[in-house]
Formats: sequence, C-alpha cells, structure tokens
Amino acid sequence: MDVIEVDMVKITKFGGSSVANASQFKKVKEIVMADPSRKYVVVSAPGKQDPSDNKITDLLYLLDAHRQYHVDAGNVYQLIRKRFVDIKNELGLKQPIEKELDTFYTHLNQYTQAEIVSRGEYFCAKLMAEYLGYDFVDAKDIIRFHLDKSVDMQATAAKLQAKCAQYEHFVFPGFYGSTANNQIQVFSRGGGDITGSILAKCLNADVYENWTDVSGFLMADPKIVSQPKPITHITYSELRELSYMGASVLHEEAIFPVKEANIPIHILNTNHPQDQGTIIQERTKIKNPYPITGIAGKEGFISIYIYKKHMSNEIGYIRRVLSILEMFNVSVEHLPSGIDSFSVVINKSDVQDSLYEILARIKNELKPDEIHTEEDLALISTVGKNMSDTPGMAGRLFKALGDKNINIRMIAQSSDEINITIAVSRKDLARTIQAIYHEFVTKEDAFHE
Ligand code: ASP
Repeated sequence: MDVIEVDMVKITKFGGSSVANASQFKKVKEIVMADPSRKYVVVSAPGKQDPSDNKITDLLYLLDAHRQYHVDAGNVYQLIRKRFVDIKNELGLKQPIEKELDTFYTHLNQYTQAEIVSRGEYFCAKLMAEYLGYDFVDAKDIIRFHLDKSVDMQATAAKLQAKCAQYEHFVFPGFYGSTANNQIQVFSRGGGDITGSILAKCLNADVYENWTDVSGFLMADPKIVSQPKPITHITYSELRELSYMGASVLHEEAIFPVKEANIPIHILNTNHPQDQGTIIQERTKIKNPYPITGIAGKEGFISIYIYKKHMSNEIGYIRRVLSILEMFNVSVEHLPSGIDSFSVVINKSDVQDSLYEILARIKNELKPDEIHTEEDLALISTVGKNMSDTPGMAGRLFKALGDKNINIRMIAQSSDEINITIAVSRKDLARTIQAIYHEFVTKEDAFHE
C-alpha cells in the first residue's frame, strides 16, 4: 500500500542572534533545507554577534533619534550598512542591497519612526530569501493592524492564505505590519516572535518553530543551580508563571495567537540544532518526569504589614488600602491575609520615591494599630501542573526549606494549584531555589536510579 505523505505546515522563525552574520545565515540554511516542511520562514533583524556588538534594531532607533534632533547620523548609518553588505558579500548574493540602503538613508526624513526601525527585518528577509532561493513576502502587505493597534486576524489570514497559494515557500520579515491606511506599524521590542505566532495561527500550522540561541527553558537558573535539567514540555500557563518571575526566552504576547488553537511552539537552538529544545503547548498528553516543571525567583520586593483590631468587621478596609496604592500607580503582587491583618507585597522599584508618603496616608486615613514594612524580600515560584494532582507537594516543599533553616515570610498557592509562591529574605534566594531543586529533581533522580 502506498503511504501518502501529508506535508506538515511549519512556521520557522529565526531570532536576531540566528541571523547576526553570514556564518549564522549558513546555519539557518542548513536547518531550513533539512526539512521540506520548513517552507515559511520568519526572520528578525540581525542581532549581536558578541556581547559588545550592536543589534541592528537598536542602531535603527538611534538613527531615528539623530534624525529627530537634526544630528548627523552618518556614522550610525555606516555601521548598519556594513552589517548588511558584509552578509551579502560573504554569501556571494546579488541583491542590490547597497543601492536600496542608500536610497533609504537619503530619504530618511520622509519616513516615520516605525518605518525606519522595521528596516532591519526588511533587509534581512530580502537577503535570506535570495540565499535560500525562496520568495520574499513583505509583512507590510500581509499583517494588518486595527486602529487600536491590535492585529486584524481575519484580514491578515486572508492575505496570507492568498500568498501561500501564490508561492511555494517564502521568507517573511518579523516585527511589523501596516495600518488600514498603509502606514508601517511595529510590535513592541522582540515582536518578531509575535509575527511567527500570527502566521502559525492564520495558517493553522502544526508547529511554530522558534529558533534562538538557547536550547529552550531550563528547570532553574544555571547561575544558581549547576547544570539544571532542560524543560522538554511546558504548558502556556506554566510558562506564564515562570516568565513573570524572570525566565524569558520568548516575547510574552507571542503566546496568545497560538494558545487557543493549541498549536505547539517549539523553542530550538540554531547553534545546537540537534538539542531537543522545549515544546510549549497547553493541552498535551505528555507528562513531565518530575513533580515540578521549573523554579524561578526574583528579588526586589517589599511587604507592607497592616494590623487593626476587629478589621474583619470593617467593610472596605482592604479596598481603601489598595486604592491608596492605586493612586500611586503601584501594582500589587500578592495579598496574604489573616483575620485582622494582611500584608501587601509590592515591587520595590514601584515605590522608590513614594513609600513614606504611602505609609503616611495609610496611617492617616485608616488608623491601623500596627503598620510596618519588610524590605529586601525575594519571591520564588515553584511551578508545575503535575503538582495539582499530587498530594503532599506543599508539605515536601516546606519541609525541604525547614531542614535548611530557611524562614518563609509568605506563602501563596494559585487556585489552579500549578504554582506555589513563597517570599524569603533576599539573602536566602539562591539557597531556597537550590533546596527546592534538590528536593524535587535531584532526590527524584536518586530515587529512580
Ligand atoms: N528586531 C526587533 C527587536 O530587536 C524585533 C525582534 O527581534 O523580534 O526588538
């Protein structure tokens, strides 16, 4: 019997470091050519080649600033030009990129900021298209924004599907699209990830491959835990919890277009393409081998403790405290409470100039019997959907910290039970993460050996 091969639809997106120079372009080509279903390629603008280098998009923002203040931008322009011309020459491409770049620079004053900063991905996609032998499709003609800056998914899908019918394979610049009156508009920084996600959703892709310079997510920060295990599978909700605490690889908004359609995002490493990477998907039958999926921690929090006799009988007390914080534009991270007391955990940076004024107002308006702050707190989230159906997880976690003499200052568990967040003193941050990792990963490994 003949086996009918059904082509998978893949969106293959390469971030800035993956297209930083000609040798990175070569790696991209190898990856794309290794799989015939990698037909739709999205690229960012060339990123840093090493830590001291510049990102093309940063240089373009700088170019725009020079233009706005009527300062000669010649030097900045030469840096940008050289990066693209070097790629072209080293790969022996024919694209008249010098001419296009020079025309762009000559007419700089006619462009909007969005148009200027979008040129990094535009020129990169043009070079990549020629190098791969693919067509170039301009995001300006496909991604449509509404007036409120959200993406018009319907119009975008229709335009994209028409292009797919026209071209077998193409390279698509990330980061920008256009408004109904044909003005270029960009996403927020790092928004090439969002472009890939929109394409995946509009084409109902089987997978959205996001190629970057790390092999996905790790279960803990490698600066704190030595050689942490990689996370092979994670749900969007788990990722949201971990990213909020600082684990960042992907633009946060890139999750939304694909989440509902349950399209997996596969984070892969252009420099180590054989690594397994991390698959992000909401509904999956694959279970992680450990009771937790990951741990992330962040310092820089303060808690304001408020006690008032018979507070529980006073309606609106907590709301009035929160409205004072709102007045000072302070967002609340956690709100653990007792019967007649509660604490508000907030970001230290939000109250740098206003903490004493906030405390004075709370004292004046709400007359608490006691109010004090605890500074230098760190929050640590232990995340994992396996926790929600395993009894005794919280007990294990607290015991592990107790054994290490770590004092827990606050505890919060999300109602879906995929996250236990605790506050500890900043000086205990690393020790806490190490103890949790040891309990749920190292000890599990030893147990199964
Ligand atoms: N080039 C843009 C930036 O640097 C978008 C991206 O790389 O995703 O923000």
